[in-house]
Amino acid sequence: MKSVLNQLIQLQELNFAKEEQRAASSKMPLEQLEKAVANIRAQLPADVADRYDRLQKRFPLAVVPLAHGNCSRCGLAVPAQVVNAAKAGEQLQNCPHCGRFLYFPDTVARQPKKMYDGKHPVEVGIARFSAANLMVPKLAAATREEVIGELAKTLTDGGFIEDGATVTELALRREAIISTAVEHGLAFPHVRDVEGGGLTFAVGLKEKGLDFGGHEGRLSKIFFFIVIPTPATAFYLRLLAGLVRTFESSEARKALLDCEKPEQMWKTLTKLTRETIP
Ligand SMILES: [Zn+2]
Repeated sequence: MKSVLNQLIQLQELNFAKEEQRAASSKMPLEQLEKAVANIRAQLPADVADRYDRLQKRFPLAVVPLAHGNCSRCGLAVPAQVVNAAKAGEQLQNCPHCGRFLYFPDTVARQPKKMYDGKHPVEVGIARFSAANLMVPKLAAATREEVIGELAKTLTDGGFIEDGATVTELALRREAIISTAVEHGLAFPHVRDVEGGGLTFAVGLKEKGLDFGGHEGRLSKIFFFIVIPTPATAFYLRLLAGLVRTFESSEARKALLDCEKPEQMWKTLTKLTRETIP
């Protein structure tokens, strides 16, 4: 059963990666994605694949984690025996309310606070999702693993996530399914289904670029590491679209990559995204 569930989760990640590519208006061939999707589908029992297809027409995310005994998407309480069966991994479980496939997450990332705390004036633009102390103008990282580790640590040090190690592991699992590198030297490593908090991202720069698994060995230079709470999934795709729209421009990329200090980088990013992320 565990393997069927893992295949379902992978299938969903690949389908969601297509959404991400669309949001990023990527011109990269979807061939690799389609092939991987077909591969996993072929391994799934036919009835499970059919059920997944039906669910996926209604919900972009059809395989979801339990959260404190509730379905994390529809939010309704799930009977204890379903929770226990999901935990034991005996049989595929579905939410009795919305029908989505349920799983018991082995690791959960948590955020201690929201960017917006309700006490200060409402922020606009990217100030809702990031801050000067989440900018890393000169990443020390030399590999994909190190980029993710360094940006997770930045988020942890800033008090925006609780456990950098868990977030790093979850982001690497996602990269293992398919790289989040897109065109123009951009990459969007991320972790979804984070509990609590709000959509938050850290940004790291590596001017000479590094191999993040981009198409045909192209190097990535600008890394947006995004932590996405369950209710913010749709918004995340809009943020992704806005960031790609901004950095399609080589002048915008140069302006950001030229930054030496976090404050300067934050100011530049704020200015550049004023129109694309209102
Ligand atoms: Zn549900």
